[in-house]
Amino acid sequence: MRGIHLLGATGSIGEQTIDIIRHYPESFSLRSAAFGTNTEKAAGWLNELRPEIISVQTEKAAADVSAVIDYKADILIGREGVMACAAAGGEGDILLNAVMGSAGLEPTLKAMETGMDIAIANKETLVAAGHLVMEKQKETGVKLLPVDSEHSALWQCLDGEAGGVEQLILTASGGSFRDKTRDELKGVTVKEALNHPNWSMGAKITIDSATMMNKGLEVIEAHWLFQMPYEKIDVVLHKESIIHSMVEYQDGSILAHLGTPDMKVPIQYALTHPRKLAVPGMQRLKLWEAESLHFQKMNGKRYRAFETAVEAGKMGGTAPCVLNAANEQAVAMFLDGRIDFLTIDNLVEHAVEKHEFHADPALSHVLSLDQETRSRVEGFLK
Ligand code: NDP
Ligand code: MG
Repeated sequence: MRGIHLLGATGSIGEQTIDIIRHYPESFSLRSAAFGTNTEKAAGWLNELRPEIISVQTEKAAADVSAVIDYKADILIGREGVMACAAAGGEGDILLNAVMGSAGLEPTLKAMETGMDIAIANKETLVAAGHLVMEKQKETGVKLLPVDSEHSALWQCLDGEAGGVEQLILTASGGSFRDKTRDELKGVTVKEALNHPNWSMGAKITIDSATMMNKGLEVIEAHWLFQMPYEKIDVVLHKESIIHSMVEYQDGSILAHLGTPDMKVPIQYALTHPRKLAVPGMQRLKLWEAESLHFQKMNGKRYRAFETAVEAGKMGGTAPCVLNAANEQAVAMFLDGRIDFLTIDNLVEHAVEKHEFHADPALSHVLSLDQETRSRVEGFLK
C-alpha cells in the first residue's frame, strides 16, 4: 500500500489521479490532499478516500470542507496547509504534485526532505528552479517520476539504456491554433484558445499549448529530468498526439512511445512503475483507425514563445524563473480578457530581456523574483 499526497486534487490531473486511487484501493491510499476552493468536486470523494490532511486556499473553503466530511481530519488553509501535506510523507509514500504554477516549488522541496518520491506533473517547478530541485534530489536520493506525457514516454524509451543516446525528441500537437499563421492569430478569442484538439486539460496549460510555450517549458523540464544538454533535445510537430515522444540512439535507431492521448496512462505509470497495469476507462490505440501519422519540423518564427523559452533555458540562472512567472501572469491576464493573445509573447519576451540576470539564484531569490516579475508584467501594460 502506497500513501499518496496529492497537490492540486480538484484539477484536471488531480481528478484523474483520484480515479486511479479509487480503481486500485488495495494499492493506494490518499493520505493528504491540497486544492484551492473547489469543494464541490472534492465532496465527491473526501468521505470515501478520507485523507488525514485537507488543505484549501480560503476560510470559506475550509468551512465547506468541515461541513461535508463525516470523519476527523486536519483542515488547513493557504501555504501552510500545502506545506503540511508535503511534510506528511512517510516511507514508500509518493507526492503527486499537480498544482498549477510555481506555487508547487516550495512543497516539492519540502516533500523531498521527507524521503518520499515525487511524481511531478507541475512542470513550472522544474522550470523556475530546476537547479534547486536537482540539487535536493542528489542530497535526498528520492526519485523524480515524470507525469507529463512526453517525459513519461522519454523515461520509458530510456529504460535500460546503457549509453549511446543521440537525442531526445519531444512531440508537439501544435495546440488549438496549429493551422493558423501568425497573422491569423490577431484577435483570436479565449474560447477559441481553450479549444485544444487532442487533450482536455486545465486552462493555463491549454493556453500554453496554443502559444507553444508549453513545449518550451517541456524542453526545460526534459533538460533537468534527464540531465540532457539543450543541444540534444529536439521537438517535432505531430498533430495526432499518438507518438508521445521518442529517443534517438547513436546507431540511428529511434524508440517511440505510442498510445491514445489519455493522461491517466502516464499518471498511473508514475505510481505503479515498472508495472504497466490496466488504466480505468482507457481506450486502446487502433493504429489502423489513425491511418497515417504526420510530422513537421518546428518553426520558431511561428511559435515565438517556444523560442523564448528554449533561449531562457539555455541562459539558465534566473532567466527560466522570470520566463515562467511572466508567462503565468500574462496567461492569467489573457484569460481575464485584459490582453490579446499575441501580447502574451511580447510581455514574456520583454520580462526576460529586461531582468537583472543572476547565474545561480538561491531559493529566496527565486521566490522574490517570481513575485517581482508578476508585478513588473502588470507594470508593462500601464
Ligand atoms: P488545473 O488548473 O486543472 O488544476 C490546478 C489544481 O491546483 C486545482 O486543484 C486547483 O484548485 C489547485 N491549486 C491552484 N492553486 C493552488 C494553490 N496555491 N495551492 C493548492 N492548490 C492549488 O491544472 P492541470 O491539472 O491542468 O495542471 C496541473 C499541472 O500539471 C500544471 O503544472 C500543468 O502544466 C501540468 N500538466 C497538466 C496536464 C493536463 O493534462 N492537465 C498535462 C501535463 C502536465 P481549485 O481548482 O480547487 O481552486
Ligand atoms: Mg506534455
